[in-house]
Amino acid sequence: MAQNLFISIILLKIWPSCTLFFKSDPLKIDEASGQYMYDEKGQAYLDCINNVCHVGHCHPTVVEAGCKQMHKLNTNSRFLHDNLVMLAQRLVETMPPSLCMVYFVNSGSEANDLALRLARHHTKGSEIITLERAYHGHVLSLIDLSTYKLNHITDGMHTKPDFVHIAECPDTYRGKYRDTDYPMKQLADLYVGSVNDIIGKIHAADKQVSCFIAESMQSCGGQILYPEGYLSKVFKSVRAAGAVNIADEVQVGFGRVGTHMWSFDAQGCLPDIVTIGKPMGNGHPIAAVVTTREIAASFSACGIEYFNTYGGNPVSCAIGLAVLDVIKNDKLMENALKVGKVMDAKLNELKSSHQLVGDVRGVGMFWGLDLVKDRTSREPATDEAAYVVKRAKENHVLLSRDGPHDNVIKFKAPMCFSVENAETLVEKLDLIFTEIAEGKMPQHSECKVANGKTYRRGAAPEWPKDLSLVLTQEKQTKVEKKNTRFN
Ligand code: PMP
Repeated sequence: MAQNLFISIILLKIWPSCTLFFKSDPLKIDEASGQYMYDEKGQAYLDCINNVCHVGHCHPTVVEAGCKQMHKLNTNSRFLHDNLVMLAQRLVETMPPSLCMVYFVNSGSEANDLALRLARHHTKGSEIITLERAYHGHVLSLIDLSTYKLNHITDGMHTKPDFVHIAECPDTYRGKYRDTDYPMKQLADLYVGSVNDIIGKIHAADKQVSCFIAESMQSCGGQILYPEGYLSKVFKSVRAAGAVNIADEVQVGFGRVGTHMWSFDAQGCLPDIVTIGKPMGNGHPIAAVVTTREIAASFSACGIEYFNTYGGNPVSCAIGLAVLDVIKNDKLMENALKVGKVMDAKLNELKSSHQLVGDVRGVGMFWGLDLVKDRTSREPATDEAAYVVKRAKENHVLLSRDGPHDNVIKFKAPMCFSVENAETLVEKLDLIFTEIAEGKMPQHSECKVANGKTYRRGAAPEWPKDLSLVLTQEKQTKVEKKNTRFN
């Protein structure tokens, strides 16, 4: 440790259930810009996972818009304000015409919770259909239907309520119906069948469906792209059952797919309610629900006032407007398309040279690599995926892994990620996959087995009980960012 560096380690008992990225050797990030993050020594990391800082970390246009508005006014939305109206207008312009009513909230969870309320009041139904592996938020109403979380609760305190029905995840690589067993054309129908069966059972029990909720592409579930036609066929069945469709675009919206602003649109689908968040404020907490006039009217008619102190405040809306400007002015959707094509070609090259890569799937700035121990059995290569993420970080590339077996390497970079960045990423992956093929990966197992189940998050034994933060009292003289070599 350098002599001029005096580090005091203060253990703070905050947020004990939070999982840090790179938990065995967490990063303390001090600054960020574009697609790079810098630790406290000024070392650069290529950020391949930050879909929150959508238009690039600390984008000057966004920062300036927020600062300017903070100097002028911030208050709640019981006053008229141009920013509120302008942002609602700009968002609606990006949506199909029927989706024209906007509610501003502060997080994806709030947006989805409100969406469920809208659906319930409009349909008078009680039953909710969700997908296996879904994640829709951290509040109680959403943990209820987020199988991604429910499946890992080990103390039995929170179980799936009876009004929640789980449909098969339409994962054609690893799901119930696979591309090896059925022609691609049949797969959508088979998975739609799972939703239809649920609707049939709900009706047989003399109950009414309220909604189907799904991400337009499943992110936490392992970067899943649905088989062609799946979403529109499900939406049709759900509507025929008198229920509404909620498209969660919290992770996959705002042009990430490149061809369209919204991922549901890229699949030719028309939801009744859309929830948006994360990228909307480029790191600032703002989110929204967009719905039809009819659904909004049903909610107003229920008699409960909807007030949200911070939702739609002038500062958040100024930031939201700036994000939309940057997406357009910096041609970020075009960039997502261009980089997406390079990713497609390069990742598939990796697949041809490494048996470890079982499946490459994605579009635009949304990609997943399903790592396998064996291509025929498709046994998930969970330890290998952990090793890839660790070694990538040591090579200053930030990646994460997800899916029910934690074996899917996730890519969801800020939209300013360049073709050169994509090439660097693939070069690093190539080296790491080669290390694994040459047996250089140390043998270990990160998956713990409890109650006969493999689980991946929670209080795994090797994790610290408390979230520990390292605070430096006297910072090391920072290496000038410009001189920092990204290696
Ligand atoms: N929906 C999806 C698909 C998400 O990924 C998340 C957050 N990861 C949420 C909703 C909840 O958003 P927030 O954390 O902003 O409440």
